[in-house]
Formats: sequence, structure tokens, C-alpha cells
Amino acid sequence: MDANLTADRPTFVTHLECSLTGERYEADTLHGLSRAGRPLLVRYDLAAAAASLSRDALEARATDLWRWRELLPVRDTADVVSLGEIETPLIPIPRSSGSPNVLVKDEGRLPTGSFKARGLVMAVAMAKELGVTRIAMPTNGNAGAALAAYATRVGIETIVFCPADTPEINVREIAVQGARVWRVNGLIDDCGAIVGKGAAEGRWFDLSTLKEPYRIEGKKTMGLELAAQFGWELPDAIFYPTGGGTGLIGMWKAFDELEAMGWIGAKRPRMYAVQASGCAPIVRAFEEGVEHAERWEDAHTVAAGIRVPRAVGDFLILRAVRESGGKALGVGDPAILKAVSDCATKDGLLLCPEGGATLAAYREALNTGEVDEDERVVLFNCATGLKYPMPPADQALDRHAPIDFDSL
Ligand SMILES: *Cc1c(COP(=O)(O)O)cnc(C)c1O
Repeated sequence: MDANLTADRPTFVTHLECSLTGERYEADTLHGLSRAGRPLLVRYDLAAAAASLSRDALEARATDLWRWRELLPVRDTADVVSLGEIETPLIPIPRSSGSPNVLVKDEGRLPTGSFKARGLVMAVAMAKELGVTRIAMPTNGNAGAALAAYATRVGIETIVFCPADTPEINVREIAVQGARVWRVNGLIDDCGAIVGKGAAEGRWFDLSTLKEPYRIEGKKTMGLELAAQFGWELPDAIFYPTGGGTGLIGMWKAFDELEAMGWIGAKRPRMYAVQASGCAPIVRAFEEGVEHAERWEDAHTVAAGIRVPRAVGDFLILRAVRESGGKALGVGDPAILKAVSDCATKDGLLLCPEGGATLAAYREALNTGEVDEDERVVLFNCATGLKYPMPPADQALDRHAPIDFDSL
């Protein structure tokens, strides 16, 4: 049993708020998007949380995700579902990055092998708490796997829709962990449209990212965790592979909450939203100086997790990036694959393609002078590289023939 899951730790949730209009919504009832069709954000009594929990007390706890209990939405500890959500390590990659100050936050160590576990562990716990019995969701793979695992664990029925070319391992992983999974001849937003239609007919609850309020609360733990790991002084820059942007929005929210509690100062990292140049709606909107992103047509990239042509939280991503003094950056598939290969061969760390995208973007930012070599930088590797196709390695040896040991 997780030492952090004791019944005596309360949440300090007060209410929910529309991220566009600020309109207030009740906590403890089931919500999707706000009446304005935008994401709902969970609000806490941060003064009371700070009075009840000190930084020292927090640091004395076991380091997993549930140490942040007071800043998470689950009301009743009995509703928490867990598969062991550990704090993920920061790994230096000096050779492939060219700087000793670049650290990879390796989210591939989480349950189901990706940081989607952070969002889904929270969304499923809240769905359970609020009485949901059937969930549907679109996915590019990793979110579906995390949903399937947690929902199966608490006995919620799940139906998952993914693009037909989703990596095979993801589709099978979703199925074996107990969801009904359907391959759809379209992209993730086409899958989302099917989920939305079924939800409107009352067939299931729509757990699409940012279309319910709690995945962002789970993803926000990346920001909380970074603050603690960096000794309450945030790094200079964060490179985040951006699809729906839930993690970037969540970290930005986490930093504000920690500052309101007096745990960190006003310093913020520059947030770099990294996309593949074959699907870069946020980069285009950033460069055009607009607040919302148009759908990206004919989206294609090897980095399946960030192949998201349209994001419901576009304005929240763009706002955070601009306020932070960061940028939205696009990188091509060849640079992504080269970064994955370099990191594995030079530093012994196997990134997923989305993680490779952040390394590729960092290298480009270093070249253009956007970042300095002596700045402290965090790159997000959001899934284990083991879930993705790797280059072939098919040299074979005949043990019955003479072996030329010098050539091995
Ligand atoms: C989902 C996913 C992303 C994008 O995360 P968002 O917070 O939705 O932008 C990046 N990389 C991987 C591996 C993913 O599974």
C-alpha cells in the first residue's frame, strides 16, 4: 500500500472555473467542457493548503505522485486507483545534447510506459468518485493504454478509438488491458468526433483530453515534481512535445499554485512547445501571433503522440508559451529520428520519437542562440522508447562455422 494514501489527508478543492470566461462551477459533480465549450480548471484554497502542509512535511513523504494529495482533486482516498505512479528521474545526456546542463525527465518509467498514466490515474479516480460506469476516449495510443489499465482496475467499462495506423503495440496493449479498442480510418480528432457523438447520445462519458477537468490535474504533477527536484528553483527552460498540450498547461498551472502557496518565487522557465513540422498547428498560430490554432490538414509524423491536428486548449498552450517568454518550435522527422538515435548510441538512453523531438528542438535552439549552453534545461521524454519501432539489427552468427573473433 502506498504510504501517501492515508485517509487523513484532505484535498483543498473549492470549485471549478471556465478557462476562457472564469465562470464558476461546482466541484464534486460530473462536468465535461464549460458552457463556453472550453476546458474547466480545478481551483483550490491554496492558503489553507499552505497552512496545512509545509514544504518540509512534503519532502518527508515518499516521492510518488500521491505525495501531492492536498493539491489533487480526489475527495475520498478510497476512490484513488494506483499502479505505482513513481517520481520520474532526471537523466543528463551530455553527449547527445552537447551540454552538461540538459536533463531528460524520463516519463517512460511510469505505469503503462508513458506520462499518460499521470492524467488518466486522476481522471479515472474522479470518474469513479463521481459514479461514471462507462468511458470512451480517442487516442494516439498511450492515453488509451493508460485509460484501459486504470479503468479495468476499478471496474469501469472502456471503449477506445484510435487512428488505424497507431503503433501496433499500443493497440494490443489497450486490448489486453481490458478495453474495447477500434481502429478508425482517420486522425485523432476524427476519433474524438465519434466519442463526442456517443457522449451526446448518453452512451458513455467523454474522457478526451481537456474535455473533462481532471487529466490536467494529474499532468500538473510534472510541474510540482520538477519544482521539488530542482530544490524549489525552477529550471531555465522546458521543452515539451505538444499534442493536446495538457502537460504544458498543467505544469504552468502547477507553478502558479506553488507560487500562491509561497513555495517558489516568480521565476518561470521559458516553455517551448515542440511539434513535428508535419503537424504543427500551435507553431503556426504562435508565429502568426493569433490566440487560436486552425486545424492542421494532412497531419503526418513518426511522433504519433504529437500528431494532434487540433487542440481544444490551443489558447491555453499559446498563452503559457508567450507569458513564459518561450516559443513554439517545429522539427522535421529526420531530425527527430537522428536525435533518438544519437541519444541512444551516445548516452545510452532510448527516447520515444516525441522525446527525440524535444532533443532535436533543443539542438536547433542552441544553434540559433535561443538557449545558452549553461542554462538549465529539461527535455520531456514522455514514453518509453521500447513502445516504438527501432532500426533493424540482424547480424547473425553460425556457431558451427569458424568464428572470426577479430571481426565481432
Ligand atoms: C500524449 C503524448 C504527448 C503529448 O502530450 P500532450 O500533453 O497531450 O500534449 C507527447 N508524447 C507522447 C509519447 C504522448 O503519448
